[in-house]
Amino acid sequence: MAAHEPQKLKLTFCAGTGTVTGANFLLEGPLDDTTGGAKKFLIDCGLTQGTKLADDINWQDFQYDPATIDILFITHAHIDHIGRIPKLLHDGFKGKIVSTKATKDLVLPMLMDTVGILGRDTLDGLDEMYNEEAVKKILSLWEGIDYHHVMNIEGGFQASYKDAGHILGSGMLELVFNGKKIVFTGDLGNSPSPILRDTEIIDDADYLVMESVYGDRNHESRDERNKMLERVIEDNYKNKGVLIVPTFSLERSQELLYEINNFVENKQIPPMPIFFDSPLAIHLTEVYRKHTECFNEDAKKIIASGDDIFTFPGLKVTLSTEDSKMIVDSPNPKIIIAGSGMSNGGRIVHHEQNYLPHKENTLLLTGYQSVGTLGRLIEDGATHVSINGMDVKVHAQIAKIAGYSGHKDSDHLLEFVSHMSDKVKKIFVVMGEPKSALFLVQKIRDNFALDAVAPQVNDTVELLF
Ligand SMILES: [Zn+2]
Repeated sequence: MAAHEPQKLKLTFCAGTGTVTGANFLLEGPLDDTTGGAKKFLIDCGLTQGTKLADDINWQDFQYDPATIDILFITHAHIDHIGRIPKLLHDGFKGKIVSTKATKDLVLPMLMDTVGILGRDTLDGLDEMYNEEAVKKILSLWEGIDYHHVMNIEGGFQASYKDAGHILGSGMLELVFNGKKIVFTGDLGNSPSPILRDTEIIDDADYLVMESVYGDRNHESRDERNKMLERVIEDNYKNKGVLIVPTFSLERSQELLYEINNFVENKQIPPMPIFFDSPLAIHLTEVYRKHTECFNEDAKKIIASGDDIFTFPGLKVTLSTEDSKMIVDSPNPKIIIAGSGMSNGGRIVHHEQNYLPHKENTLLLTGYQSVGTLGRLIEDGATHVSINGMDVKVHAQIAKIAGYSGHKDSDHLLEFVSHMSDKVKKIFVVMGEPKSALFLVQKIRDNFALDAVAPQVNDTVELLF
């Protein structure tokens, strides 16, 4: 076959369309291959996260035979992109797993945390998939590569990652075949990030599969959200209260530490103890320290000047349960940063039980709160909530900063697409609620006259390469 004779690849949207979580895409081909050279690649294998982590949808069979997959490419280490790998392994996967090096290092603490939750479920047999042995096996199949390193794959494919700027290690996967390129964005970062490099420009894709979490909404800028954070901290000091911050362990926690580090170094906030009370976030922060090669120039400069960007006077890291329990004895005012980000588990709920009933305290929400979570109930104005079987009155003030999102907003998603050349044949808008994905599709069509669609689950398309 001549090198550039057009060939067909097939793309299936197995999950992660019409919804934010559960990313799972299958690329296979070339379709007319009779020599046994056709390949099957999976891009991401995430848990669908709804009101309940162990959603039934996650335990259904995969739409393909996991044993036939050659390579699973991972865009980043969030659970909605890696959380279903233990099931994939259990169901027969024996291929290779590829990601950036930093993503590979984040996988162990992230999957072990999931094992700690799902591995307890002996009733549904989830403990057979989610255990330490499975995580070890998964890591033994895993190869981490540098950003921009081109990996040659049998069958004429080349794979590489560009920086997505979403979380440490996040990469946009570029797959080249027969002179044409398809790019899977994974999640796209809310650049400029305080710590990470900006999302790289993509201008030479023939096909693009992009996220759309905030396809129809815009956020505050970094300056605005920092001003809000500073004000909330100052108000808490004046009120002599406890500022409790439920936080996502991966990226949000490190960003908050970084911004508060800057406030403290520049004496922008009055001194008060700040407790970092999340074992997972503490472990993940260690992985950040190891991968400063992923940081932007500003963060690198601060580190080069001798400042540890995740440590400052007043910060108390409480890894053990005993240390965590001592926080209550520390006098006010104080700040407590703890997981989980939506208050659906983790140490934050104990602090909420203690501090929500008092009006001098403040609960600061820094991220999206899913329907059905404790965080969402509080965000929606509940005056009573049930925590650990106790009725807890909500008298604390509730503050909210939306700008801490790790995702590009609508305008920045469009800015990302604006670099595409006319050579792009189709843009698939995925990983967003239908309203958000469809809004973005319409905007891409209107602004750039490009062909964009929002596929549905199980849709299959043949792509000419
Ligand atoms: Zn993500």
